[in-house]
Amino acid sequence: MENFGTWLALAQPGVSILIAALLALVWRFDTNLRHFMSVSAAFLFYGLGMVMQITLVPAHLPLNIMLSGVVYLSAAVALCHGLVALGGKRAPWLAFSALFALTLAIRAYYTFLEPDNATRVYALQFACAALLVVAGWRVRHFRKGLGSERLLYWLVMGFALSFILRALSTIEAGSQRYGYDTTLYWVVTQITFYGFGICLAVVFLMASASRALHIIRQASYLDPLTGINNRAGFRTLVRAALAGSTYYALIIMDIDHFKKVNDRYGHAVGDKVLVQLARLLSHGLRPDDVAARYGGEEFLIFLPQTDGRTALVVAERLRRSIEQMDLSSIAEGLSCTASFGVSQFDANHPVDQAYRKVDALLYSAKADGRNRIYGDASSS
Ligand code: GH3
Ligand code: MG
Ligand code: MG
Repeated sequence: MENFGTWLALAQPGVSILIAALLALVWRFDTNLRHFMSVSAAFLFYGLGMVMQITLVPAHLPLNIMLSGVVYLSAAVALCHGLVALGGKRAPWLAFSALFALTLAIRAYYTFLEPDNATRVYALQFACAALLVVAGWRVRHFRKGLGSERLLYWLVMGFALSFILRALSTIEAGSQRYGYDTTLYWVVTQITFYGFGICLAVVFLMASASRALHIIRQASYLDPLTGINNRAGFRTLVRAALAGSTYYALIIMDIDHFKKVNDRYGHAVGDKVLVQLARLLSHGLRPDDVAARYGGEEFLIFLPQTDGRTALVVAERLRRSIEQMDLSSIAEGLSCTASFGVSQFDANHPVDQAYRKVDALLYSAKADGRNRIYGDASSS
């Protein structure tokens, strides 16, 4: 700690410990975010390792080398754990522990038996790269995830590669000296930290935030009772589906005398009927069709690139399935029917107007006795 350069070098662990404190603060506000705790620990361990190596505290060199090795490896494992936890996966503890133990053994050998700084550093860098690759493999679904998750994945892979490059630069420098100096190794370490360390923290925060937003948005599109789309989800999916269609069919379905089901069996039974019906809808349609619970016991089905005739066939299949649905597990003697309105429309026909038309058809189906389909096969 004799010169200005050494003090300047301490800025690096200082920033690392500051990031650790900020991440820990976020975790304090929401303890469900356990991955924040892991990444906070990673930055803290990394900062501590750096401080030990720069200040040479503890002063006993072999002890300093072994302790800093433990702290650096812990930082890598904590970062990997945070990454895997963010991806919603279980940490591969066996691989983590094996790499941790093997690297420490190698470092102990090259500290006590055959002192060789370059090989020690080499082993640590490769272990960090391997840990990141193992964690990256665990969260490989990030490659097809949200934008920030894809960015995080490739950043982690780049970070892993940087460890290999750092190991190679150590060999080239041929440094046998432990601690802070102005060798190429230290320069590369600083650049890597500022480049990857800070980017990783920022992108990690972004990925966590966008995942949370994504979950909230998804939930706002789904009906909490049945799990199928609600009105908002229906509108969003239909808007997207319309873009690639020239015409579509719309089916409205309303359960017959559902009030009587509630009155006779209770609201809880009515809820179970709605759930079963929604399940029938989600299993009985094509992947591109959009089904939604549009009102209390009213469901809408949007069928892209489907003519009225085909939609009538779909509706008839649903009508019959509902009529034959086995509801005995919900309540003894319970049965259910539904009425339908069906029509075909050109893609430029507003869905709100289409809804009014099929609703009028449904009204007629109800008025004429229920458990029937009223359709209009001509295009509007
Ligand atoms: P119709 O054949 O004319 O459609 O008769 P209906 O009794 O089905 O129609 P109505 O619109 O008069 O009543 C709808 C009923 O649906 C009233 C309400 O109690 C019930 N309902 C709406 N939402 C829910 C729900 O989330 N759970 C349950 N259990 N019942 C609901
Ligand atoms: Mg009804
Ligand atoms: Mg109704």
